[in-house]
Amino acid sequence: LGRRINGAFAQLSRVPVIDDKALDALLKEVASALLESDVNVKLVANLRSKVKAKVKAAIESGADKGKDINRKNIIQKAIFDELVLLVDPGVEPYKPKKNHPNVIMAVGLQGNGKTTTCTKLAVYWQKRGLKSCIVCADTFRAGAFDQTRQSATKAKIPYFGSYTETDPVSIAAQGVMKFKKEKFEVIIVDTSGRHKQESELFQEMVQIGEAVKPDMTVLVLDASIGQAAEAQAKAFKESADFGAIIVTKMDGHAKGGGAISAVAATKTPIIFLGVGEHLYDLDKFSPEPFISKLLGMGDIQGFMDHMQSITLANPEKQKEMQKKLGEGKLSIRDWKEQISNVMSMGPLSKIASMIPGLPQGMVEGSDEETSSRMKRMMIICDSMTETELDSDGSPFIVYDAKDKNKPVGVNMKALLRVAKGSGCHVREVEEVLCQYRMMSNMAKTVGGKNGFMQNLQKMQ
Ligand code: GDP
Ligand code: MG
Repeated sequence: LGRRINGAFAQLSRVPVIDDKALDALLKEVASALLESDVNVKLVANLRSKVKAKVKAAIESGADKGKDINRKNIIQKAIFDELVLLVDPGVEPYKPKKNHPNVIMAVGLQGNGKTTTCTKLAVYWQKRGLKSCIVCADTFRAGAFDQTRQSATKAKIPYFGSYTETDPVSIAAQGVMKFKKEKFEVIIVDTSGRHKQESELFQEMVQIGEAVKPDMTVLVLDASIGQAAEAQAKAFKESADFGAIIVTKMDGHAKGGGAISAVAATKTPIIFLGVGEHLYDLDKFSPEPFISKLLGMGDIQGFMDHMQSITLANPEKQKEMQKKLGEGKLSIRDWKEQISNVMSMGPLSKIASMIPGLPQGMVEGSDEETSSRMKRMMIICDSMTETELDSDGSPFIVYDAKDKNKPVGVNMKALLRVAKGSGCHVREVEEVLCQYRMMSNMAKTVGGKNGFMQNLQKMQ
């Protein structure tokens, strides 16, 4: 979608005069790109006429000062604003509060990704310092509890469920009560689905809802259902009045447009997008960054959110780290910790994709390759002594006997010891040290008063 809309804008740049004809051609292209992404026909028609009216009004009021370049910006902004309005119902979603048992209930048809999303959500809030857990109230599908057990165990999230109890309402109530007693802060209730929208399912949703009194009910929608999303969302809205939507499988060939229509139809905000099968494949959703990313403008906010998720878990530590960064006093141990933090953030290529203008090639090779390279780095660091870890790498260098600042060679004995301990080649140990040194030098540039991080923060 982004590519087509961008293409349409590029074409607009090539036309000599921006008149009604050029605007119509652009809007036609944008509209067909939206329709192809499964956005509802009526919404598209509406958007088209609104943009046209806005642009006309702006030009008539002389806002373009008769210049094509201004006209182009007006058109671009009008389209951007209208697209944002499409995914922004103007309603603030519920936010889990600290020191409160926030009950979140997930509903949706079978296979839409509820169970997967419940684990992702628990991990997401757990990382932000909220004690999180999962209650499996799906007694309809065989193996549902096993699935919860497996994914929750993998994510190190406490869970509750039963192999023998057949009443989902009773399980939900028991689980929520147990976790409330244990002072959990985010209690996620996973419910069952059916293949179709059946009255039994809706009845069950109502009953579970009455039993656990959720602070927020989330509708989990599969992006690949396209235009059918609207009808499905409306049907659920009547029985399980959800306050938020999560659209899953946005990574596949799915077209997100159906989901966009669903938002407009139910006036409910999207809070996250599921973008893969792994624990961290969950993107926070907010309208403006979503649209700018859609139009190929990068996602600074998403990047900052991601960075914050790793710092929130341990704010003290991070403050200390930032200070060290600023002073350029990063030890090998600090560097190693940063890398393990980055690894816990999820696939590197995804992080890179959030930074506008950053070439994807910066993270070379597949995610598996990058992460196995990082794991080797860790192993090498683990074979160092405590003193070496806390150093700036100088124990691996031999200095001139008279001039302590003048390096004359490498400390082969130390390098060999680390290489042997980690089962790596000396060359690899040297490479790791070289990378550490690059990072440590970069830290001085990045962390300082006019550094990259500070600039990023100013852009907020
Ligand atoms: P439920 O029946 O609603 O609980 O759905 P599940 O959580 O069991 O998910 C059904 C299938 O969809 C599983 O194979 C998941 O791995 C997959 N799935 C869930 N979310 C996503 C996503 O965001 N992207 C992709 N590619 N697959 C997903
Ligand atoms: Mg399930």
